[in-house]
Amino acid sequence: LYDAIVVGARCAGSPTAMLLARKGHRVLLVDRATFPSDVVSTHFITVDGVARLAQWGLLDRVRATGCPDLPPAARFLVRGEALSTPAPPIGLPSLCPRRTVLDQALMEAAREAGAEVRLGFSVRDVLKDDTAVVGIEGQGKDGVEVTEMARIVVGADGRESFIARTVGAEKYNVRKGATCGYYSYFSGIDCHAAEVYIQDSKAAFLFPTNDGRTCVVNEWPIAEFKTLRADIEGNVMRTFDAVGQGQRVRAGKREERWYGKQLGDSFYRKPFGPGWALVGDAGFYKDPILGQGINDAFRDAEALANAIDAGLTGQRPMEEALAAYEKTRNNETAPIYEITAAFATLDPPPVFVDMIRMAAQQAAAAR
Ligand SMILES: Cc1cc2nc3c(=O)[nH]c(=O)nc-3n(C[C@H](O)[C@H](O)[C@H](O)COP(=O)(O)OP(=O)(O)OC[C@H]3O[C@@H](n4cnc5c(N)ncnc54)[C@H](O)[C@@H]3O)c2cc1C
Repeated sequence: LYDAIVVGARCAGSPTAMLLARKGHRVLLVDRATFPSDVVSTHFITVDGVARLAQWGLLDRVRATGCPDLPPAARFLVRGEALSTPAPPIGLPSLCPRRTVLDQALMEAAREAGAEVRLGFSVRDVLKDDTAVVGIEGQGKDGVEVTEMARIVVGADGRESFIARTVGAEKYNVRKGATCGYYSYFSGIDCHAAEVYIQDSKAAFLFPTNDGRTCVVNEWPIAEFKTLRADIEGNVMRTFDAVGQGQRVRAGKREERWYGKQLGDSFYRKPFGPGWALVGDAGFYKDPILGQGINDAFRDAEALANAIDAGLTGQRPMEEALAAYEKTRNNETAPIYEITAAFATLDPPPVFVDMIRMAAQQAAAAR
């Protein structure tokens, strides 16, 4: 019997497993993927997320993968007007590590903390008794079906969470998906900070990442997905031209294919019930336009690990601890959820632009 089984071993699952294992719990961490492997996601990590990596003792390990330190605040231009995103004055950079190396580092840290890790392991069912989830059924690389029992099963299995669907976790505060996008990796672009341009209902981003490459990103309204997909490279270049950055991108060379998709609805899910909990995108997903997902996954992993620890050790009834986890998550993310929805229109009303500007001024004044 495990204390916790965590399904999904990326930004949300590996830190949850690592923190529970560090508290002395017996943890099984599984993922159907093998590592290192990529996901369809860009990977800018805000300073808050970098601060968590530092607290967990993992910052040097992520930096050692070769992703450059970036200025804490992204450079934002909305309709030609320069903004600076708020960044807490804590003397740390922001980072943009490839998910291949970030997720690998997080998974290894969970293993080093004592979690048992099984990769290439696909969870096929959730086991229940009369009142609660009690374990999982799944298949490892060898094709053998196994069951494993635990006091709690954590779904860190992403936006389309199998665990959430199987336990019937309800969505709430849903916002219709508003954007679609493509990105790729270029060498030879002179770029040393995260840059965001929003103009004429289109967004263009540049993120310096590992191996001297720059992640070149385009976000369009979802209604224009067919047009965008019909000529990805041409449309990306036209978007960068429109914001005055086309020459810089053309000076570089595309080194990988284009990755992208239509971005789905944003939502919260009820993140707990008898014997189960959700963390990361499984419990809370929003449009990636402000690059919050990884930081949110880290924050919620820490909060959930603390709540589960309190429940498992009897410091607090499990249900009460998990209800507090949901409440804190929702309170802390409510303002940025609204701001994200406004930016995902790709035409944010000036009041939301003002909110970003005011927050940046407050952060600067606090320095
Ligand atoms: C286009 C795009 C761009 C983005 N850009 C950014 C950005 O710049 N910055 C940022 O912070 N966030 C960004 N995000 C959001 C970010 O990708 C997510 O918030 C983050 O990946 C969530 O991590 P997670 O661990 O919750 O889920 P995921 O990364 O989705 O990992 C879930 C894991 O669960 C595993 N799994 C699923 N089902 C099963 C099963 N049945 N059995 C076993 N394993 C299973 C999967 O294999 C996967 O490895 C972006 C998202 C998209 C789509």
